[in-house]
Amino acid sequence: APTERTDFIRNIVRDDLAEGRHAAVKTRFPPEPNGYLHLGHVRAIHTNFGIAEEFAGSCNLRYDDTNPAKEDPEYVQAIQDDLTWLGYHWHDLRHASDYFDVLYLGAEQLIRDGKAFVCDLSAEEVRASRGTLTEPGSNSPYRERGVEENLDLFRRMRAGEFPDGSRTLRAKIDMASPNMNLRDPALYRIKHVEHQNTGNAWPIYPMYDYAHAISDAIEGITHSLCTLEFEDHRPLYDWAVDNVALTRHPDLLKPLTDRGLPNEAGKPRQIEFSRLNLDYTVMSKRKLMALVQEGLVSGWDDPRMPTLQGIRRRGYTADALKLFIARLGLSKQNSTIDYTVLENTLREDLDARTQRRMAVLDPLKLVITNLPDDHRETLSFHNHPKDETMGERRVAFSNTLWIDREDFAEVPPKGWKRLVPGGEVRLRGAGIFRCDDVVKNDTGEIVELRGCLDPESRPGMEGANRKIKGTIHWVDAATAVPTEFRLYDRLFTAANPDDDSDGKSYRDHLNPDSQRTVRGHVEADAAHAAAETRFQFERVGYFVADRRDHAASQPVFNRAVTLRDTWMQ
Ligand code: ATP
Ligand code: MG
Ligand code: MG
Repeated sequence: APTERTDFIRNIVRDDLAEGRHAAVKTRFPPEPNGYLHLGHVRAIHTNFGIAEEFAGSCNLRYDDTNPAKEDPEYVQAIQDDLTWLGYHWHDLRHASDYFDVLYLGAEQLIRDGKAFVCDLSAEEVRASRGTLTEPGSNSPYRERGVEENLDLFRRMRAGEFPDGSRTLRAKIDMASPNMNLRDPALYRIKHVEHQNTGNAWPIYPMYDYAHAISDAIEGITHSLCTLEFEDHRPLYDWAVDNVALTRHPDLLKPLTDRGLPNEAGKPRQIEFSRLNLDYTVMSKRKLMALVQEGLVSGWDDPRMPTLQGIRRRGYTADALKLFIARLGLSKQNSTIDYTVLENTLREDLDARTQRRMAVLDPLKLVITNLPDDHRETLSFHNHPKDETMGERRVAFSNTLWIDREDFAEVPPKGWKRLVPGGEVRLRGAGIFRCDDVVKNDTGEIVELRGCLDPESRPGMEGANRKIKGTIHWVDAATAVPTEFRLYDRLFTAANPDDDSDGKSYRDHLNPDSQRTVRGHVEADAAHAAAETRFQFERVGYFVADRRDHAASQPVFNRAVTLRDTWMQ
């Protein structure tokens, strides 16, 4: 049986269920559709969907689409694709905008209860009257407006009578509160902007804190899990839930019932956990957007991007990401995780799951002179050294092979185990080769190695047991397919590219060597693999057939990760 996971949130959920506070746990993942999901989101996804799964509850996908200016249907679709790729299934798909009419009625309710007022101060005037951490703010001159006047003005805001920014609806809480979020925060603002879901139906939009709290309440979310920066907003969250009080005002839900949308209004509890940060990475959507728009990467799915689209194209598996997140666990302490930890998790996952193939990235011709030119043969190779169930494959072999240039040294450094002039090396699965001749062109470049294959040294033969220091990989020149290999590395050279204290921007820390393309060969079998197939190219690294550009006739493989950590600081 899988071991039961524990962390402070799961403990709360477990207690709540044990004490009968909820019939079932209900969570939601609430992305704002203003960009693509990134690695940081995986923690929120894994927490919300994971907890729902573990406790036999459910998790909604809810777009927090209260800021129409920045939102786009492109992101709405991509978020669903990413969640599906991660293997999560949402219970209901909702939008905060599905609740605009309920949120509106809730606001009128607050006005009637004397808990909200229409304020005519400009944004600047509001800022100036908010006070500071040590000084209380001052009440708006509009704070004591009567209910009827407030209702009239709010309805006219809704009718589109006033220009952007001319008025807001504000909660009437406490301008002297030590928590700035409680100093009569805005609940609604005027914005004559088309919305990706509701079109031009609304000239006013609810503020995030209000919309989020009430949306959670509408959906009957039991545990509203979010990141630490919302900790200070929790009192406002609770204020909105308690004062709109859907459980006492079921009439507010009528617009939903009329549309046949089920709802289980309840009192959600917000719990915060720390954000995931990775070194050598920027994770804010705003910065990722800038990288794309400034052409510093090829797009949201550039394999160097920490977006799910990028990381998927890079060759990461959903399982590796989930394992990475699960191992880190949940805490209330913000910290930055070593990029190496992520890469090691990927190596571990790919080692177990990928079949082995041979690929040569920097080809050097090797001719076996004691085999005829028309020699054609196929050799049998295990697809995985530790997993028999992955079976075997046939690999073409002839007298002309490609080997990697770096497996030959005319003047070997100390400790060299690979091929040298006159030396012997084992050709993976084919036997022991002795290099007799090094052929050079006019400019002195080595263009070909020639030599003999010991006919008694085939795998399984007695002669194969001779002690030979090195084994190298190869591909058969007659059948191998010319291939483009894209070699990726970290996008930034600085451990903390976000640090701008030295006046530098993350743009100044871009790694100039984060992408390199080389041309070589793969064995024919790998060329024919479907896009997104992952392999370990023996001795070279883990690669994935590019999701967009790979074709059997023109293979393109992205390096997901090297076999070992080679990052130099
Ligand atoms: P960004 O700052 O990158 O724009 P965001 O928090 O504004 O991120 P949302 O779309 O609002 O992005 O995020 C959806 C959910 O994912 C929220 O609950 C948010 O707290 C969570 N989330 C976002 N980034 C991280 C992160 N780095 N680690 C953990 N959770 C995150
Ligand atoms: Mg957000
Ligand atoms: Mg954001």
